[in-house]
Amino acid sequence: MTQPDSIQPGARKTEDEHRRDICTIGRWVASRGYVAATDGNISLRLDAKRILTSPTAMNKGMMAPDDLVVTDMEGRKLLGARNPSSELAMHLLIYRRRPDVSAVCHAHPPVATGYAAAGIPLNKALVSEVVLSLGCIPVARYGTPGTPELTEALEPLVTDFDAILMANHGVVCYGQDLLTAWFRMETTEHFARVALVTELLGKQVLLSSGDVEKLLAARARYGLTTAAQTSAACPVTSDAPGGEFAPGVTGDRVERVSLSRAELTALLDEAIARDRQGR
Ligand SMILES: [Zn+2]
Repeated sequence: MTQPDSIQPGARKTEDEHRRDICTIGRWVASRGYVAATDGNISLRLDAKRILTSPTAMNKGMMAPDDLVVTDMEGRKLLGARNPSSELAMHLLIYRRRPDVSAVCHAHPPVATGYAAAGIPLNKALVSEVVLSLGCIPVARYGTPGTPELTEALEPLVTDFDAILMANHGVVCYGQDLLTAWFRMETTEHFARVALVTELLGKQVLLSSGDVEKLLAARARYGLTTAAQTSAACPVTSDAPGGEFAPGVTGDRVERVSLSRAELTALLDEAIARDRQGR
């Protein structure tokens, strides 16, 4: 059977259509290098009582519709020759906490996962489209994969965000349908790349809180449904308290320098010597 290379938005489809959609997203996840080997997992709600999930121990680009597994809302297998994803508990947590969510995508895209491994949230108002669509992307503390530790780490963030960096692990995104969940994964990785380039350039010019307010007001105009979290610190703006003079935050005002340990030691020695001479 030939596989479609596109999917339509919307959660109301036949089970066969949902199965094909998950396989299509699986190929996109694999072909973009967002996973290695058998990493990652994808699921969606079939109805109020059943989840359709990718199987464990299978490359996401190689899945066929019959490889997928149907479970109940407690993760017990109802249908399928294979076993469900080892991270299904994370998906079930998100479905429990977010009745508005019908699909979850988890992957390890390398740049966003780099931020997760560095413990750095993607929370600066650097790109208008990201402020519009996701607001902030926080980092959940580390939890061992496949254990309750991981779900406990995510739990405080699931209600307020639609994309989360998982420390030393990867990224999880979710939405009202599978295409939305996937787009959020793509946006997160794309934003991580842009943020990394600004780090390499040594300069970041953030949007102001006024700019961010206008973007948030425009969400309704674009028909965007999102967890819509915002606070004084999320996303970080150019006029955030203390943000103006934080190194690397507002490049117009802050010049960054880098010194080797030896250069720094020499400078300190020189300053101490001068201080002693002055006494
Ligand atoms: Zn993972």
